[in-house]
Amino acid sequence: MHRRFMAPGALAAASLMLVIPASAASHAPGAPGIGDPYYPAYGNGGYDVSHYDLRLTYRPATDELEGTATLLARTTRDLSRLNLDFLLDVGEVRVNGAKAAFATSGEHELEITPKKPLDKGTDLTIVVRYKGVPSSKKAYGFTSWHRTPDGGVAANEPEAAWWWFPSNDHPLDKATYDVSVQVPDGTQAISNGTLQSTSSRLGWTRYNWRSGKPQATYLATLAVGRFDVTTGTSDSGIPVVNAYSKDLGPHNGAARASVERTGEIADWLSEFFGPYPFDALGGYVPNTDTGYALETQTRPFYSPRQFANGSNTSVVVHELAHQWYGDSVSVKGWKDIWINEGFARYAQWLWSEHEGEGTASEIAAYTYASRPADDPFWTVKPGDPGPENQFHGAVYDRGALALQALRDTIGDDAFFTILKGWTAKHAYGNASVADFRRYAEEVSGQPLAALFDTWLFQPSKPSAAVARAASVAGPQAPERPKSWKKIAATNGVHAH
Ligand SMILES: [Zn+2]
Repeated sequence: MHRRFMAPGALAAASLMLVIPASAASHAPGAPGIGDPYYPAYGNGGYDVSHYDLRLTYRPATDELEGTATLLARTTRDLSRLNLDFLLDVGEVRVNGAKAAFATSGEHELEITPKKPLDKGTDLTIVVRYKGVPSSKKAYGFTSWHRTPDGGVAANEPEAAWWWFPSNDHPLDKATYDVSVQVPDGTQAISNGTLQSTSSRLGWTRYNWRSGKPQATYLATLAVGRFDVTTGTSDSGIPVVNAYSKDLGPHNGAARASVERTGEIADWLSEFFGPYPFDALGGYVPNTDTGYALETQTRPFYSPRQFANGSNTSVVVHELAHQWYGDSVSVKGWKDIWINEGFARYAQWLWSEHEGEGTASEIAAYTYASRPADDPFWTVKPGDPGPENQFHGAVYDRGALALQALRDTIGDDAFFTILKGWTAKHAYGNASVADFRRYAEEVSGQPLAALFDTWLFQPSKPSAAVARAASVAGPQAPERPKSWKKIAATNGVHAH
């Protein structure tokens, strides 16, 4: 590259270059995005993270977060520089022990230039010291950090990490985590996985959480506040840790009556999806004024508002279904969001059937019948909805409708074999909508391209004939299932 800038006769410079090893010429900056067309700047290129060690201190009174992130990674190409995604203020960066230069760019890029270029296949230990007030930071005009009266919460999709730790922020780069957070005595720090230990000293308590299975960055969560913590064990032997803000007010009872059923619901889901993929379970309800819920790994986030009309086990079913569909098996690109939401919504339909509030087939028929052909709902393609419609209701409802059509076409045996087989085949990995179609064809022995195209990829309502063939439309207008309102109330998982 630099030869282009060499002026004729610059012999001194030229001879200096001759002593640079030939390989150095191939060391270029890593890409500022991992290559996702929906979000070109999300994640980064040129390396892969295997572990995050986050050692943090948080002051609820002032929303100040400071700490050290130690990332274990490996380069996947020759690099002269690499990026992390991050918003807080960085004080020092080290790569393999040596101080590295750093700068910020774009909306959330931290550019790190190590002392020496890095060859492909090099193991890296990247240490980032930082501090900042997360609630003061915005990217693209929004924040995913929820300030609460007694602390703060990081939980959002697709982006939540930028406000609390530097990362390669895309589901394609999963890693294990140790999250250690020091907070004032009387305050709790909730995160994913297993609470390994706590220790108190001089008015501060440190909580040490561990996630030993690969976890996408957006599924890492942190909540600091005053919580009541409950513990238990599911029938299948998974330890359960739930946390409820002490200030849930009138939502307190309904929140507990829902989230305390986590172990029971996870065991029920495992009958459809196979063994629970992680070694910890739970949920937490902080005192945020948000409305959504999120499948943060092993320990979903629930807004108090999810329980405003009483207990809501359907939302617990949805977020726990994601532990298989979304968390263990994650999207390859954000266009594959149906792999998450279509199945989590379908799990709610199965739960409705289990509870005697309408069968999956009845809910499918009602979904199809209640939306006229000119409803813009049908213009959203769940198989590739576009970033602006990534969390549109159609991805959920039409997405689940597609699964009912698949079930009616290939039969219950093949359908339920697929639900379990898929989570085993791609456990702890990534997969796409196209991968699912191929897998469904393989298991059922039927060509399914037309079915997937009709239900997931056409910007129009599937015809009555097609719907009848898939048994999701009958001669009469179906009645509204009892569970309809409750399931609809769990829409809007994502809110900027
Ligand atoms: Zn969801």
